Amino acid sequence: MGAMKRPAPNPVMPQFLAGYKPGDPIDKEKVRAEIKAYLKLKFLQMTPTQEAFVRVKNRFGRMPKTRLMEMGNQGGKTTIGISEDIAHAMGFRPWLKNTDPDFKIPIKVPNVGMVGCEVAGQTLSQRIEPGFMELIPKYCNPQISRYSDGSLKSLMLPFDYMGNPCGSTIHFRSYVQPSESYEGIISDWIHWDEPPPRAILNAAARGEMSTNGPSWFTMTPLKEPYIYDLFSLKAFNNGGDDQEIAVFRGATWDNCQDWCRGCNLTIEANQPENIAPGAARPVRRCPGCRKTMGFMPRAGIENYLKKITDPDEREAREEGKWKHLSGSVYKELSRDTHLYPDFEIPADWMRIEVVDPHDAKPTRWLFGAVSPEEISIAGKTANRIYWYSYLLLGGTLHEIVRRVKVHRAEKVYHHPEMVILDAKYGARTVKTMENETSWEEELEKAGIHGIVLSHSAPGDVSLGHKAVKDYLRPQYSALRGKEIPGMLFATQGCAGDRGPIQDAFNYRWKMGSDKPEEDFKDFCDCFRYAALEQPVYKMPQPEIDPALAKMLLDKGDRKDEYNPLEYGLALK
Ligand SMILES: [Zn+2]
Repeated sequence: MGAMKRPAPNPVMPQFLAGYKPGDPIDKEKVRAEIKAYLKLKFLQMTPTQEAFVRVKNRFGRMPKTRLMEMGNQGGKTTIGISEDIAHAMGFRPWLKNTDPDFKIPIKVPNVGMVGCEVAGQTLSQRIEPGFMELIPKYCNPQISRYSDGSLKSLMLPFDYMGNPCGSTIHFRSYVQPSESYEGIISDWIHWDEPPPRAILNAAARGEMSTNGPSWFTMTPLKEPYIYDLFSLKAFNNGGDDQEIAVFRGATWDNCQDWCRGCNLTIEANQPENIAPGAARPVRRCPGCRKTMGFMPRAGIENYLKKITDPDEREAREEGKWKHLSGSVYKELSRDTHLYPDFEIPADWMRIEVVDPHDAKPTRWLFGAVSPEEISIAGKTANRIYWYSYLLLGGTLHEIVRRVKVHRAEKVYHHPEMVILDAKYGARTVKTMENETSWEEELEKAGIHGIVLSHSAPGDVSLGHKAVKDYLRPQYSALRGKEIPGMLFATQGCAGDRGPIQDAFNYRWKMGSDKPEEDFKDFCDCFRYAALEQPVYKMPQPEIDPALAKMLLDKGDRKDEYNPLEYGLALK
């Protein structure tokens, strides 16, 4: 490459108007379609999942260093991955307005990036290379080098999208190359297309260490479950604590152009037979829920999915869910429907608590609110449960009780309607200074009232799983005007390592058995105790001093007697 000079305006811009005679009416739609095809990246429209992926910010207002897009096939993950690659090479996102806060990317230009993908030959030539070539306009004048088998090795961009000098280079590596070949590259950013083997990820991370650059994964989560434990599980937007990791999940259906799965709505104008060849789907948003429509026809997606016979693989390829998690106990759980934005619990909702005591690990104390709205569980009337907070408690029983009381005060109440306690612990003896007694007794003495022991008859465990699943089922809410589950989790209040959300979403069956794994079981036990108890809403009674209440009730038997304490008080 010689000295770079700024190209003349649109040096190799095709003549979109060629062939039109002056004075002839111009087919504006045709010209517009040609320009859009040429400047494709400028006109990139993001699906809601892609948009979240591109705009995510952590608690510090920054884009997390590691982003994961776990998506079904044909969901548009490679497109957004490659768009991010080109954007990072250029230092800006051409498809956003230049006034958009996410237009500029805080990265030095020129830079060096790396794209890792599964198999060089096939993946690179059939998917990755065409993707790059489609999105980089010719006037950027990409300089390409190739491996001996002809697949893409590197791509240098002399000019950026605006026609300004750029000079960034993108290297391409495949997962069949030895991990050592990844060590030599000092990269400013890395894009993993499909999950890399662990040795390769580690080798590449060493090359990226000095730059502390960002990386993003775009993948169908079929392989390398270590990625799940190392990243997805820790992501701050997935119930974890790491502010530098964010994960996004999308179903293939997010990218459907003519059917909205959420609304079960067919958009006829977007069906392929009603669109002129080469034109974009005319209806951009679902008329029902206003979500941005995708770019794949429903018939094409269905045709693709019906060829997958393994149900676990299908779940990964259709829903973007990790294949190794297909043994989830609560398969119906979805972050979209079962998490709610935290709100202050209304004073007239009924409070409940669930306790799962432990010796070696922290005792779980779960805080829930039962709303007055009725639902049906196992054919009986129940009420919706909102889990809004939790504590992981260690120390002596008295320290535990003190922390619970402080927490209650912070949540503006003194006594819940019931405290459901794991029955095997409730009856178990604990040693105190003076003698041996039970948890139930000790908690009671320390001022925890309303203790109810969990159901523990034979068969109650499997009954409990069924009851929780029943609670997780969406039921119509007249208040919200739509279906919502009978059991929900506060997005903030239930987040965190070892918190209720993490436990609920990761609770899985032991391979080939009808028992769940031990990890992530603790809060799930709590949900199970509560679901079996099936708490029914009662209006909380105003909290009055028990001694005074007793006196009033005693007096209440003698109605004829005037009692100044009773005056104006409506007692039952
Ligand atoms: Zn819709």
